Amino acid sequence: MTMGFLRECVGRRGLYYARLALAVAFVLAGAAGLSARDDDPYARSRDYDLQNVRTHLRFDIEHKKIMGEVTESLAILRENVGALRFDSVGLTIESVTLNRAAAEFDVQPKELVVRLPQKARRGERFEVTIHYSGQPTKGLYFILPDKNYPEQPKEIWSQGESEDTRYYIPIYDYPNDRTTSEMLLTVPGDWWTVSNGKLVGIKSETDGTKTWDWKQSETLSTYLISVVAGEFVEKKDSWRGIPLEYAVPKGQEFKIDTTFLRTKGMLDAFSDALDVKYPWAKYAQTSVDDFIEGGMENTSATTLIARALVHPKLAAESIYGSDELDSHELAHQWFGDLVTCKDWANLWLNEGFATYFEHYWTEKNFGKDDADYEFWLDGNRWMNQKSLFGVPVVTRQTDESLETEGNIYTKGGLVLNMLREKLGDQDFFRGLHHYLDVNRGQNVVTADLIKAIEQETSVNVDEFFQQWIYRAGAPKFEVAVKWDDLVDSVHLQVKQTQEVKGLVPLFHVPVEVEIATKSGVKTFPIDVSKDEEIFSFAVDGPPLMVIFDMGNRILKSVEFKREPAALIYQLTHAETVPDRAEAAKALGEVKGNADVVAALGEAARADAFWGVRVESLRALGKIGDAAAEKEIESALLNDKPWVRDVAVAQLGNFKTDASLGAQLGKIATEDAAYRVRNAAMQSLAQLKAANAFDVLNAAVQMDSPDNTTQRAALRAFGTLGDDRAVPILLAWAALGKPNDLRQAAIGSLGPVGRGNKDVTRALVSYLDEPRISKFAVVFALGRHGDPDAIPVLENFLKSGKLGPGLASVTKNQIESIRAQVAANKPAESAYGPAAQDSNGAGGVDNAALTNQLEKLERRLDEMNERLARIEERVAAPKK
Ligand SMILES: [Zn+2]
Repeated sequence: MTMGFLRECVGRRGLYYARLALAVAFVLAGAAGLSARDDDPYARSRDYDLQNVRTHLRFDIEHKKIMGEVTESLAILRENVGALRFDSVGLTIESVTLNRAAAEFDVQPKELVVRLPQKARRGERFEVTIHYSGQPTKGLYFILPDKNYPEQPKEIWSQGESEDTRYYIPIYDYPNDRTTSEMLLTVPGDWWTVSNGKLVGIKSETDGTKTWDWKQSETLSTYLISVVAGEFVEKKDSWRGIPLEYAVPKGQEFKIDTTFLRTKGMLDAFSDALDVKYPWAKYAQTSVDDFIEGGMENTSATTLIARALVHPKLAAESIYGSDELDSHELAHQWFGDLVTCKDWANLWLNEGFATYFEHYWTEKNFGKDDADYEFWLDGNRWMNQKSLFGVPVVTRQTDESLETEGNIYTKGGLVLNMLREKLGDQDFFRGLHHYLDVNRGQNVVTADLIKAIEQETSVNVDEFFQQWIYRAGAPKFEVAVKWDDLVDSVHLQVKQTQEVKGLVPLFHVPVEVEIATKSGVKTFPIDVSKDEEIFSFAVDGPPLMVIFDMGNRILKSVEFKREPAALIYQLTHAETVPDRAEAAKALGEVKGNADVVAALGEAARADAFWGVRVESLRALGKIGDAAAEKEIESALLNDKPWVRDVAVAQLGNFKTDASLGAQLGKIATEDAAYRVRNAAMQSLAQLKAANAFDVLNAAVQMDSPDNTTQRAALRAFGTLGDDRAVPILLAWAALGKPNDLRQAAIGSLGPVGRGNKDVTRALVSYLDEPRISKFAVVFALGRHGDPDAIPVLENFLKSGKLGPGLASVTKNQIESIRAQVAANKPAESAYGPAAQDSNGAGGVDNAALTNQLEKLERRLDEMNERLARIEERVAAPKK
């Protein structure tokens, strides 16, 4: 699946919002304990093989209630089985029949136990029918209109992963079994539904309802069962004889074409590369409101978050549209659905592949430069997630509940990219074909992939998987170069500086070294395996540029001190995008060098690839002097909005230039692209420009596609921190306003209007609202700093309904309020984490506290921006 950002209850796959929140909370207040993840890392031993599930659901829509009947056909797998156990949480079991005769059963908190009249033998078959009802708290969700949102289309949708199907169907609910499935849905006559497999028929009932009958004849694991029903509009299409459906909530049908235009291209690309045709009877992509994930790859019926739909008026300013999300879920139809991980410890076999094929689609459709840039960004991001370094991709550690998805998704994708590099294209794709072919319709562990690759390619990949998947970390290189003119050689000293400890090994990797001299460029392959080695290369003159790991093929970090001239040469001459991007990034650390600034400026305007322009702009922003500012301004005319907005965002760093206000104000109202105008508002707010309030105030009243302008303005108010925004923010945070705008306004109410009790009261009232992110509210209360919120947050904590992420964030925000109170009232005794850091010198060190609070503010601003970026990525996804 692709992670959403508003889920409150943090499962093993964690969530962006929660992760952001925690990143900030941990930095500020030290790590709070997290409870272990819920999902079982080991597959269970099975008593029976589930062979077919026929579920019929009826709905009491108003009461969000289901009435279900499920018939499960199964075969016993062991001798002397006395009872059949079904996972079932919160459901009222009304009756159970066993082979059509009434059966005895016990309902336990997490399972339904059906007693067998006598011990069953291996191979014996049973048909169990369960009548049940319930109001699911997970697994199945009702999105309904109410008096504040009368236009909301009615929607019911499911989310089974990881182990939530049991909240609406009593069933064997762990991935190490597969079953065929039939889903009957009785719904109002004007509703639309989708589930797994083929539509067998739609039957009109006497009461005006209709029963839709969906049947999946190939097997699936139960977390992939899907139900979507409601007021949707669908568009039909087809690909190589397979029906395609795109469905969206009523009223959003104008976004279908701009969102799904490349689905058929993706189906071509993946089917052809794998030489395994898309394996299911149809492919439906359904966007639903308030989805708790970004996307979910239910077999033949992907569910997507409606926020990722691409508005036609915004399509031209988004390079990838929703391709990243859509290609990720489509790739899962092979990796995850056709072959399914046997247990959650091997989840990377689902998610690593889905992530890899997002990049593969980028490469096929947008070009290798784009894909290389994505891998470079992913690699840097992964290396920065320090908590993941000691943890292998395949792990059964249960105390890492929030942290491991960076390994399972990002590192998994990077490892597959390295595997392709190692094997070459032909063997890589033949190996994957064989893996899918021999494991089709089965559950897999990593050893199945290793075996399939070796069988097909005769390449031994044991060492590769050992170091990258079963062991942890990545090489951290320290590289130094010396030119020896006595022997015309370049000596390269290569050290691996990662701490070899626990599961982190010394790495054995192939690396290409590229050396440019006056007479040209030469590439030297080397084999790095020791903690320290010196390699010598004969070249015909002093090197102008030395690149270690040309093209960034290895997941790694490199410390490599080079002269600015060599880096400038690399920025302007290196052939691959990662090598130029890396040079730009390194040059961002060089201050006060006119040549560096000029070279970055030139690259920011004219590099052949947009991502290098972006990295050069960021480097100039980091350098931060007047010359750098000039270069950034000269890049403001870039024709690509996704470059121009970076230039505009960098201008927010130049606080001493009073003339920027007018310039940014003009961009905020006149630029052709919404995203650039939005970036200008954020920069105005960051600069606290004199015109910022008026520009934002005008923008918040403007209509825009998907409310993009209003949302950006509301968010920028939080950065600006001008108390005149309080009534505006309160008005937009109120019930009845669009939900995304409410959340933006709530986020900004934290830092605005300190001491204003109306703000505290309003924020507290949002804690009870189901459609508002509790993370957003808790954070806003923390930033607001009103001690009146402390007892409220303490009660909220005591309610016991918070997931580990939210509980931890709430605790930290209570501490943060206490620290702020202490800072504002130095006479009172101080307590809380900030006070403890103040040297223990007896009294309260106000300077230290203020300093801490400023840091907190900066971190929260950063988080706000990161959140905005993530939302943009969901709206125009990166992931
Ligand atoms: Zn996924």
